[in-house]
Amino acid sequence: METTALKAKAAQIRMDLLKMIHGAKTGHTGGSLSNTDILTALYYRVMKIDPANPKWDGRDRFIASKGHSVESLWCILGDLGFFPKEELKTFSQFGTRLIGHPNNKVPGIEMNTGALGHGLAIGVGMALAAKRDGRDYRVFCLMGDGEQAEGSVWEAAMAGPHYKLDNLVAIIDRNRLQISGSTEEVMGLEPLEEKWAAFGWNVVSIDGNDMEQLVRAFEAPSIPGKPTLVMANTVKGKGVSFAENVAHWHHHVPSDEQLALALAELSAAIESYEQEGLVR
Ligand SMILES: [Mg+2]
Repeated sequence: METTALKAKAAQIRMDLLKMIHGAKTGHTGGSLSNTDILTALYYRVMKIDPANPKWDGRDRFIASKGHSVESLWCILGDLGFFPKEELKTFSQFGTRLIGHPNNKVPGIEMNTGALGHGLAIGVGMALAAKRDGRDYRVFCLMGDGEQAEGSVWEAAMAGPHYKLDNLVAIIDRNRLQISGSTEEVMGLEPLEEKWAAFGWNVVSIDGNDMEQLVRAFEAPSIPGKPTLVMANTVKGKGVSFAENVAHWHHHVPSDEQLALALAELSAAIESYEQEGLVR
């Protein structure tokens, strides 16, 4: 998918996830809006996947280590046909498999996540398995920036370069907020890029809500023997003006009025991308 179409797709996914959270009356709104562009670039352009054959052994692997922001992922997997899109209406309802965190009973989910700090270590194992099996699939792992306070992240950060896993891409959704406020107030992370570089990673810093930059970062050839860390500088609540950069929206459910306003903003964005697509 071309970048203008990817931008329109991301806006549509944002609309879908807002409706889903509004209907369920629960969800992680801010973080899902923050990571939507990252997931859209991966699932609609970069990763080798087959929704009709989710266990295809040549597939690229994706791990949502910041598992609480699952809403964008559910909407994308439903949109791609990993399961019937209608099922999104069951999100967080009693008995559903579309629970509030990734659940490997759902096609397309590699592992259960949500207890923070576990995803990258599993990603290291998957990337190491690919190397040992002589396979060319890549492993992508999305972490939160608040998640960087988990000690286990740094054990995996040491292991990736040790095993020369140039088929591993870790991504940090660097929106500078976590549930209780600014990351720098809760547990200072800076200088975060220098820390990852010191651990031996090829660090690529981008605007993580810019589709061109995301595609370029994910499609760039890896540096032989080094895993890549994409520092995706994002805005929590991205795409909904009144939710952007507001910590309170971490777990806030839009009211009827807020949903209508947000959908209007996103519809206007889609219209502008469609016009952009026509003139190209
Ligand atoms: Mg964050």
